[in-house]
Amino acid sequence: MKTAIISDIHSNLEALTAVLSVIDALPHDEIVCLGDIVGYGANPDECVDVIRERKIPAVMGNHDKAAAGLIETDDFSQMAKAGIAWSKKSLKGESLAFLKALPLIMETPDILYVHSSPDNPGDFRYLIYPSDAFVSYDSFSQKVCFVGHTHRPVIFDPLSGESAVLTREKSIVNVGSVGQPRDGDWRACFALFDSERWSVEFFRVEYDNETARRKILEAGLPQRLGDRLLVGV
Ligand code: ZN
Repeated sequence: MKTAIISDIHSNLEALTAVLSVIDALPHDEIVCLGDIVGYGANPDECVDVIRERKIPAVMGNHDKAAAGLIETDDFSQMAKAGIAWSKKSLKGESLAFLKALPLIMETPDILYVHSSPDNPGDFRYLIYPSDAFVSYDSFSQKVCFVGHTHRPVIFDPLSGESAVLTREKSIVNVGSVGQPRDGDWRACFALFDSERWSVEFFRVEYDNETARRKILEAGLPQRLGDRLLVGV
């Protein structure tokens, strides 16, 4: 079974469209989304439409939760607050209802999908360093947990390190961000998990980031939200 895993689309329709066309051309059995469909970018409603119409199972990210009005944005940065305000203004009722109904986790006997971290998924903790991930291992029973949230693709596997073939003991894998990468590479990121080989492959996809940036500026969103798409930070 091959699962394409996308996360942190952040209302970037150009990046989402480009990533899905690459996935469509790859052998795969399913697509899963790890949340933060909205926030930051200019096309929240359009991105929700794509996920909903393609029936891509998704978990809830902190930006989805805030846009749906389920949490306040006091802890959000000024840029994030601006993105949430734009999302709230743009989203139609059925999109809001869709975001509100997203679960915090999805799971199979062997795989856990969550936006931020497996312990207390509703707290949206950041797993940045291996030490952040290692304290989470006892909080899930599956062999692998896929996360997003930091916008940086990385494999945390205490036995195999960052090898693409995971150990079957316990791993946490961050699949990176489709719509706002922050690892210094502007190209959209997603991961393909092969449950037979038990391996993860990261893909980087060029997309029309100039158009995504222009739409952000035209929407009156903070300039930095557009500029960062050109450099991936
Ligand atoms: Zn995010």
